[in-house]
Amino acid sequence: MQAILGGTFDPVHRGHLHAAAVGRSLLGAPKVTLMLAARPWHREAPATSIEHRLRMLRLAVGADPHLVVSDWEARREGPSYTVDTLTALADGEPLVWLIGGDAFAAVDSWHRVDDLAALCHFLVLNRPGSRRDERMPKGFRRIDDPSALVRWPSGCVCFAGATMLDVSATRIRRRISSGGAVDGLLTPEVWAYIRTHGLYGRRQPGG
Ligand code: ATP
Repeated sequence: MQAILGGTFDPVHRGHLHAAAVGRSLLGAPKVTLMLAARPWHREAPATSIEHRLRMLRLAVGADPHLVVSDWEARREGPSYTVDTLTALADGEPLVWLIGGDAFAAVDSWHRVDDLAALCHFLVLNRPGSRRDERMPKGFRRIDDPSALVRWPSGCVCFAGATMLDVSATRIRRRISSGGAVDGLLTPEVWAYIRTHGLYGRRQPGG
């Protein structure tokens, strides 16, 4: 089984790391790949470059043996379409795309959505404050036991009951730009990187 959490990671935060850890444990997967959506097509352009976001991801993961950073989408030209990534990564084993409830609610608008059911399962992580949308994208069916996903090649959606952290990159960017505290929302290494490079319009001390 491959387990992948895709995201813009602008910046990667504790909510992502917690979601990956919970997803890995629910699936019984050896590791989770954090896949940088380098050029997301479905949202406004990221605030920081691909290189900064990749470096922050690598710092956040550090030596954790259960997490892997992938630059696969970063190395490709053009928009990052999940369907292309899934097609390229398919290895005959079930592939589970970890996804927050907010992002899952928008899957119907993804590029070539009708092809997804033949390529992956979804494990949906319910974010606090985001509405729970249990509509199935075309070709998918719901199952309740995450550890059973591996029994099917693709086409299943499982809603995880676990509580996620109430953290979002949007809120972190806003707090940083207004000089607010981000204690505990980022790893120390990522926060140090943001300060060193003055990302997200961070007000410089004394500036
Ligand atoms: P933004 O606020 O910029 O939209 P984000 O915090 O949602 O960013 P993304 O990189 O867009 O972060 O998210 C990547 C994936 O991780 C998405 O599927 C998203 O729903 C999920 N995710 C993000 N934050 C959390 C969280 N706190 N708990 C669970 N899943 C999360």
